[in-house]
Amino acid sequence: MTDKGMLAQLFSRTAAKLVAHWYLKRPEFEEKIQEKYQIPSTILAAFLNLLYFHCHSTWSYRVAGIVLEPTNVCNLNCSICYFEKTMIRKKGYMKLDLVRKILKENPRVESYTLPFLGEPFLHKELSEIVRLISIPMAPSSKMKSSLKSLGQVSIP
Ligand code: SF4
Repeated sequence: MTDKGMLAQLFSRTAAKLVAHWYLKRPEFEEKIQEKYQIPSTILAAFLNLLYFHCHSTWSYRVAGIVLEPTNVCNLNCSICYFEKTMIRKKGYMKLDLVRKILKENPRVESYTLPFLGEPFLHKELSEIVRLISIPMAPSSKMKSSLKSLGQVSIP
């Protein structure tokens, strides 16, 4: 690893430690934060976004990561779920055109996380959504994506 790379890693580790211990007061988040914010420019963007947020601004410096929700439909009914109590959006499935629009309008996004709520594998076009997100992910790209599921859907 180059000196620049080591310095970036040290910066990212220190920032993650400060945010988890001092700002969030949740030391258990340190590793997750470090995993997500490895690039100094992403850390700076997150910090400036937070500043905008605390100034009650509806603007942000830069969208660094996006959470996509292919569907808010879920096949489970977990007792801890706040979904049924708080969801005011209609249940439905994200259209591919919307995914394309989000990708086009946010070329500098460094991470996509699927989903927020709902079971993504209930979306019949999930593989196409994943493919669309993967297109800008050249081997040299810094972009990352992750997909979460409770694995209770059988996939044909
Ligand atoms: S899997 Fe998630 S969205 Fe579905 S019921 Fe459980 S907590 Fe709610």
